[in-house]
This record gives sequence, C-alpha cells and structure tokens, in this order.
Amino acid sequence: MKKAIYPGSFDPVTNGHLEIIKRASLLFDKLIVLISVNPNKTSSFTVDERADFLRRVCYDIPNVQIDSCSGLIVDYFKEHKCDIIVKGLRAMSDFETEFQMAHVNKHLCPGAETVFLCADSQSTYLSSSMVRQIATFGGDISPFVPDAIKNDIIKRLDITAKKEDNKE
Ligand code: ADP
Repeated sequence: MKKAIYPGSFDPVTNGHLEIIKRASLLFDKLIVLISVNPNKTSSFTVDERADFLRRVCYDIPNVQIDSCSGLIVDYFKEHKCDIIVKGLRAMSDFETEFQMAHVNKHLCPGAETVFLCADSQSTYLSSSMVRQIATFGGDISPFVPDAIKNDIIKRLDITAKKEDNKE
C-alpha cells in the first residue's frame, strides 16, 4: 500500500490544490492532505478552518484524509510511515523552492521521495494569496475556489462588505 502526503498551507484551499488532490488520490492508495503550520508565517484562516474547508471539498474522495502538523514534514512522514511526498508545480517560480525543499527533505530523511505533479493549465497562476487578495476587495473568487467554501471565504475576508454593513 502506497501512502502519500500532500503538504501545504492551504490558506485557503483553491481549485488548483483540489485538482492536485484529485489526481494524486488516483496515483496512491492513501493521500494525507497535510496542513503544515509555520509559526513564523501569519495565516488568514485558522488550522481548524482550513481543515474544515479541505474536508468539505474532499468529502467524496474516499482515500483522502486531512491532517495538520506543526513540526518538520519529514518527521510526520516518518512517524506515519508514508512513502511519497506530493507537491504541485505551477510556473517556474515554484521550481526553485520546491527543488530545494525536495533535496532538504531527502537529506533529512533519505526515504522521502518527492513526486511533482504539474499544475493544470487553468490553475498555473492560481494561489491562495491571490484568492485572499481578490476576496478582501470584494472581487469574484468563484472561478478559483470550490463552490462549497466560496461564501465562507468571502464572509471572513471581504472588507468591502464589512464597510457596507458598518454604514447601515
Ligand atoms: P500557496 O499558498 O502558494 O497557494 P501552498 O503552500 O498551499 O501554496 O501549496 C501547497 C502545494 O500545492 C505546493 O506544492 C504548491 O506548489 C501547490 N500548489 C499551490 N497552488 C497550486 C495550483 N494552483 N496548482 C497546482 N499546485 C498548486
């Protein structure tokens, strides 16, 4: 049985992440989508919110599990006896950091092999930060995030709607 982890911030999960999750779930027996918590990085959504979004958009993919970790990915990898780390690759900008990360992980844990899946052409330029920025200023995020979580993202981030509420 091949068990893979797909680590990331997922702040929040986008259609780009979901596309990688769906494809990876077909390649491995079990896929753990791992919210990696970096104490030096401020996030817009709490770990619980991010996990809830992920659960709601992955509910129909039976071999996907959602988890979080606040330490090194390779420590989680070893502890949970995983076989593969999955990462998504968008444009060239991802390559350098992901390449470095894959080598560092291999160094820390020689069995930790990283498999890269190329982003779908429609999500190559899609990132959580772009979604956050559009939502903050009241733009339409529906092409970028799953329908099931769209309104919850807007409710939390849209400052233009909050301004309107304050006027009333
Ligand atoms: P970001 O905050 O930049 O959206 P994450 O840390 O949540 O990214 O990303 C986790 C993993 O998913 C990384 O391997 C990243 O390259 C990949 N990823 C992020 N967005 C996309 C996308 N639109 N298409 C494919 N892979 C993606």
